[in-house]
Amino acid sequence: MKCVDAHVHLSDKEYSDSTEELMAEAKSANVVALVSNSMDLETSIESLKLAKRYSGKVFAALGIHPWNVQSLTEDELHKTLELISEQRQNKAVIAIGEIGLDYKYEKIWDKQLMVFKEMLSLAEKLDLPVIIHSRGTTAQIVEMLPSFSLNRVLLHWFSNPISALSKAVEHGYYITEGPPTAYSNGIREVVRRTPLNNLLTETDGPVRYFKNPFNGKKTTPAFLPTVVKAVAEIKKMSDIDVSEQIIRNFEGFFRVKLN
Ligand SMILES: [Zn+2]
Repeated sequence: MKCVDAHVHLSDKEYSDSTEELMAEAKSANVVALVSNSMDLETSIESLKLAKRYSGKVFAALGIHPWNVQSLTEDELHKTLELISEQRQNKAVIAIGEIGLDYKYEKIWDKQLMVFKEMLSLAEKLDLPVIIHSRGTTAQIVEMLPSFSLNRVLLHWFSNPISALSKAVEHGYYITEGPPTAYSNGIREVVRRTPLNNLLTETDGPVRYFKNPFNGKKTTPAFLPTVVKAVAEIKKMSDIDVSEQIIRNFEGFFRVKLN
């Protein structure tokens, strides 16, 4: 059964000593593609290196995470936007992400909004998909996105409100869910209500999951078969059918052909 990780932070420092090990685990778990999401300029450059090193398996999403907006200088923002534009022709660069808005960082709200809009405008201009973080801001983001011409939107770790989910699905947005699918009733409800054609899987590693069956162990791509099985159980389908559809979703959304 093939799996994909549409949202992982392979360029995170926590993984820097164990990339080889993680990729070996991905291989034995039959994880055929990973999207290395970036947090800032430095991790964007690192994601590009990883995508080059593991060509055809690791793809890069470049961007600035709302958590990294506080320390962001104008120069760094400019350089990141420039890097994304320059890399548009690089087939390994398949999205802008992770970008978004986080209500916990309300003190820098205006700056978050400014950076997010810059990224959305660039995605519109370059026709790249966006991978969005929307903690506490999902409804607002789903309201604001139609003012941009974005064809491909991925709402990562969608949790609530359910009312925003139906709107997102109506707009054709994709949802990505990870390990909580195995234990969280809230996330299971989101998966239940999301058409399988709009769904992707993720680990968001190195984020750790403390509930059963993950129990705080280091997050690796090897968690993905558990996620696919949980989706299959919710959708009352076979693991293989779910896995095949998710692979097709990945290829269609990111416009890549996986081996
Ligand atoms: Zn993330």
